[in-house]
Amino acid sequence: MSGAPAAYPLDAAEWRATLALPLFAPLGAEEAQRLQELTAQFIAAKQFSAVQGLVLTERIVQRIAAQGCLLVLNLGLNWYRGWREIILYPDAFVPQRSYTDEAGVVHETRYPYLGEAWQGGPLIFSAADAAGGAEDGANVVIHEFAHKLDMLDGSANGLPPLHGDMRVAAWAETFSAAYDNFCRRADLGLEGAIDAYAAESPAEFFAVLSEAFFERPAILAQAYPPVYEQLRLFYRQDPLARSTQASS
Ligand SMILES: [Zn+2]
Repeated sequence: MSGAPAAYPLDAAEWRATLALPLFAPLGAEEAQRLQELTAQFIAAKQFSAVQGLVLTERIVQRIAAQGCLLVLNLGLNWYRGWREIILYPDAFVPQRSYTDEAGVVHETRYPYLGEAWQGGPLIFSAADAAGGAEDGANVVIHEFAHKLDMLDGSANGLPPLHGDMRVAAWAETFSAAYDNFCRRADLGLEGAIDAYAAESPAEFFAVLSEAFFERPAILAQAYPPVYEQLRLFYRQDPLARSTQASS
C-alpha cells in the first residue's frame, strides 16, 4: 500500500504481555509475528483518542489494536479501510442519543454501552472492557471490528463482502437457518454459551458469533458447524484447529 505511514514502534515488553492474553496463546510463531506487524501498521494508520479524562497508555492501544488485527490476520488491513478514529471512554458509556438515527449507525442496546461501530466513522470502546482480555467468551473488540467488516459493503446486515471462493447463497442459507434456530432457543432460554444478544438482529448474530469463533471456537463448531465453516472461510483462519494444536 503506497503512502502507508511507518509502522508504530511497539513497546517490546508490553507486546510480550499483549501476546500472553489467552486469545493469542494458540498463535504459532509465524502468526504472532504477522499479528505484531499488522498491529504496528494499524496503530500508525489509525487515530486513537481518549475522552472523559482517560489517559491513553501503550497497553490500551496495543491490546485494542491487536485484538482488532486478529480478525484480519489473513485478510490484511485493507479490510479496515474507510475510517480512521478509535474513541476510548474510561468505562462503559452512555451514547449521545441525538446521534441515533437511521443512517447506518449500529448502536448497542446493552446499557450502558461497551462499544459502538459507526458506518464510515469511529469505533468507540470502553477502555476498561476493551483492553482487559476478558475470559468469559465475550469480546467487545472482536464484536465491533466484526461490525466494521460487515459495514464494508454498506449497512451492517450480517453479510460482509465474501471472498471469490465463497457463495452468498451458502452464507445466507447457513446464517439464516442458524439465526432462526438461535432465536427459537433464546426464546426458550436455551441459548447456552453464546451471548443471547446475538438474537437481536442478523448483524448482531454475525458479530456475536465472530466473538465465539475466536474466543470459543469449540463451542461454536459444536453448536453450529456450518456457521463455523463459513466463518473459517471468511476469516481464512481455523481457531479450533489452532487451539487443538496448541494444547496437544
Ligand atoms: Zn453489535
